Amino acid sequence: MTEPILVNVTEEIVHGLVRFLLFGPEYQTFCHCEKCEMEIAAYTLNRLPSNYVSTAEAREEVYNKLNNPIYISLLNKEIIRAIYAVGKSQNHS
Ligand SMILES: [Zn+2]
Repeated sequence: MTEPILVNVTEEIVHGLVRFLLFGPEYQTFCHCEKCEMEIAAYTLNRLPSNYVSTAEAREEVYNKLNNPIYISLLNKEIIRAIYAVGKSQNHS
C-alpha cells in the first residue's frame, strides 16, 4: 500500500500549462510574477470541475485520462481567458 495523498489532478495539469503559456512567446507582455501566475491558476481552476484523488495509482490513472488533446485545448482556452482577465485587473508594479 502506498501513502494516501490528496491531489486535484486538474490543478496539477493547470499549473504546468499556466507556466508553459505564460512563459511562452505569445504572452511576453503580461506580468510573469508568482502572484499573477497563482492568480491565473486560481481563476482557471474556479471555472473547472476538480478531479481529486487519494492514491498515487488513481492519480496516475486520472492524469492519463485527462492528458488528451481535447481536454488540454479546453484547459488552454480557459487559461488564456484567465491571463487576459488577470492582466486587465492587475494593480501592482
Ligand atoms: Zn504580476
